[in-house]
Amino acid sequence: MFPVQRLRRNRTDERIRNLLAESSPDKSKMIMPVFVSEDATQPEPVSGMKGIFRYPVDMVGEYCSKLDNYGLGGILLFGVPSRKDEIGSESYNDKGVVQEAIRKIKVSSGIPVIADLCMCEYTSHGHCGILNGNYVDNDLTLDSYSKIALSYARAGVDIIAPSGMMDGQVSAIRNALDKSGFSRIPIMSYSSKYASSLYGPFREAAGSSPSFGDRRSYQMDYRNSREAIRENSADESEGADILMVKPAIFYLDVIYRSRQNTNLPIAAYSVSGEYSMIYNAVESGTLSKDFINESLTAPFRAGADILITYFAESYARDH
Ligand SMILES: [Zn+2]
Repeated sequence: MFPVQRLRRNRTDERIRNLLAESSPDKSKMIMPVFVSEDATQPEPVSGMKGIFRYPVDMVGEYCSKLDNYGLGGILLFGVPSRKDEIGSESYNDKGVVQEAIRKIKVSSGIPVIADLCMCEYTSHGHCGILNGNYVDNDLTLDSYSKIALSYARAGVDIIAPSGMMDGQVSAIRNALDKSGFSRIPIMSYSSKYASSLYGPFREAAGSSPSFGDRRSYQMDYRNSREAIRENSADESEGADILMVKPAIFYLDVIYRSRQNTNLPIAAYSVSGEYSMIYNAVESGTLSKDFINESLTAPFRAGADILITYFAESYARDH
């Protein structure tokens, strides 16, 4: 006779269920994306992302100190400058919007500050680098990325997150930081960033839609997952300290696969479209509120160490 395999799953005691849970959403592992706008005079709601605002530089310190009190793991900063040009020169201005915001946040709280590093918010054409004709000139763009990294470092950033997907961006930034005495600053690389329709609401928030063409020449094809492992290992060998998979919940296989292939921490970025989709489904009553927790748990279960999510603030406030 075969022995009966008892999984003893009929647990009703909530505390025992929690004790035995294999993974849980953890606010100290969550990062809240924060938009800071040079033109804003008060928090401006982002259309398409209910509950999300662009903050004026003068108010971002206070807002982040509130997030710090909630016990969040950190913030990921995006700048919306008032001035754009062909070469995105505001991105490396020491008095630019992100640089000023970093200083303000650092005097008001101890929350870890990660700054997104890209040029699409700063270029008049909305592409992630400097154009040569209709294409982004990869190597010319790397020089600008290094300048941005140094200006963030001088402002006091904790972690730099290059998101432009240029080849060689991690090593260019690493070398620039090391040469200037900033070797302690880690790089969180957007190593597996897919060309996804889920970025729509973000582009409105950050004012970063490309004026022509799209970003498929430098972002990944959503039909591919082995390619993510190649991107991850390229960034790892260039000196990335944290790898990222973006978006998150349609890419759990990529998170899982990445986890099997690296010992670096992995951050999953649940993007604006995921937030809006989940928020709207819950707000309309189509799905129950626990859908939010389910979506916040899945990336951790798949192997992520860190979750970047627009739900971080409300989750941390309520838990
Ligand atoms: Zn970009």
